[in-house]
Amino acid sequence: MAKKNQLHVVWLRNDLRSYDNAALYYAATAANDNADSAVLAVYIATPKTWQQHQMAPRKQDLIRRRVLQMQTELARQNIALLALEAETYQDCSTILAGLAQAGMVTLYGQTEYELREQQRDKVITKQLQDDGITVNWYDRLCVMPPGSIVTQNGDTYKVFTPFKKTWLSRLYEQEIRCFPRPKATELIDAEPLAKQLGLSAIRAGDGSSADWPVAEQQVLDKLRNFCQQQVADYNEQRDFPALDGTSRLSAYLACGVLSAQQCVNRLQLEAGAALEQEKSGASVWLSELIWREFYKHILVAYPDLIKHKPFQADTAAIRWRDDKSMFKAWCEGKTGYPIVDAAMRQLNQTGWMHNRLRMITASFLVKDLQIDWRWGEQYFMSQLIDGEFAANNGGWQWAASTGTDAAPYFRIFNPVTQSERFDPDAEFIKKYIPELARLTDKEIHWPHRKTTPSGYWPAIVDHSEARKLTLELFSEVKKSDE
Ligand code: FAD
Repeated sequence: MAKKNQLHVVWLRNDLRSYDNAALYYAATAANDNADSAVLAVYIATPKTWQQHQMAPRKQDLIRRRVLQMQTELARQNIALLALEAETYQDCSTILAGLAQAGMVTLYGQTEYELREQQRDKVITKQLQDDGITVNWYDRLCVMPPGSIVTQNGDTYKVFTPFKKTWLSRLYEQEIRCFPRPKATELIDAEPLAKQLGLSAIRAGDGSSADWPVAEQQVLDKLRNFCQQQVADYNEQRDFPALDGTSRLSAYLACGVLSAQQCVNRLQLEAGAALEQEKSGASVWLSELIWREFYKHILVAYPDLIKHKPFQADTAAIRWRDDKSMFKAWCEGKTGYPIVDAAMRQLNQTGWMHNRLRMITASFLVKDLQIDWRWGEQYFMSQLIDGEFAANNGGWQWAASTGTDAAPYFRIFNPVTQSERFDPDAEFIKKYIPELARLTDKEIHWPHRKTTPSGYWPAIVDHSEARKLTLELFSEVKKSDE
């Protein structure tokens, strides 16, 4: 293996893929253009920072597994990947400074939108540029990057529907470009460099994400199969947690094993004209991808969201209930409301929760227990394999009626009717709460009509009482605002 004097370094973060990776593509192209240069990919695990950000252990494991798998995949493309273990974001700047000393001429990476990540990248960019190194960031987290979908006055949209309309009109004006998988002319041996710089290799994970395959081709196949075989039924099936009606691609989108561009591209290819029919499965699925982008645009325009501020300032004054034991019961799925408890068990056992259930459980925490949405937001983050700040914050603030496009505060989900409607045969409940399986389909959604079945929990609150309390809490702040 050759030793090269100039390194084109790709710093992988939330773009753990080799197809449609602009940074990797441009770095390999530059390296291939110059016989004395090589491409080197780097990933730096930062578990201490991950912990500060409440990243779920399952998500951490998925990342570790994916990085190790990617090392093998990239080696087949003649690209070396240094998979490193550090602690915090500060360590990234030390490691990159070391690579600068070792011959890095250009750094390539994909932009991240969260505040601390932006601060980290700003510091690193300056540090490297001061040393004469070129830094190229690619804004590819969204199909339409933040700032590109704005109102006629140039403002950020605060409501989804007009955002989506503009987003779609832009989609039909242009072709979505996906970058091909790059290949280097020669594979360099990165080990001596790691030794010379005293770098540690990434640790293997704990295997808790083993149900999620990490080979890139398998993930691309999942996307293709979903678009070929399932998307047509998406609109009819997506709200029923007992069905396999959604793509379950969120974890891959969150770590960038898959890009949104690849999803839209594949959807356009497979769905054809159906994509333009308003209620087709394909167009409704596209809408969900647009929701993903909407929340990212909002985050970039309102970076204070990351400081735990509600989008609607008046709701900051709501006097949430400070009840740790109720919160614990919710986290553990012991509220006595079967659909809520089954959903929380799905989250705790698998690291993933169906979207309808995320809405029901979030609404229950905030509007039945009057507990601060930020507690729930953090708990979700600590468990979700697809945990992602913008979507999680957006989803929680939507449910709590504190966010953009929020559900009005007086619209409060009834967890029992939600259960009857979206899990009509109680198949989902029975899967996660087998102790209720002997009840009839009518009883199971509300098992307390006679006496609470043994082995199950009494209802933690009475929904209609709780509803009244919530309306009072909100009307206090809304009145004081007038
Ligand atoms: P599909 O229905 O197949 O949708 C395709 C993709 O679109 C998803 O993978 C996801 O990337 C995106 N998407 C779908 N719905 C939404 C939405 N409402 N908002 C933003 N993006 C969406 N999604 C996350 O990716 N990470 C989170 O941390 C997260 N937290 C949430 C918290 C709450 C309280 C709520 C109500 C929703 C949250 N969502 C989050 C959105 C949504 O629930 C998940 O994206 C979805 O359930 C993932 O399953 P899927 O991949 O099968 O989705």
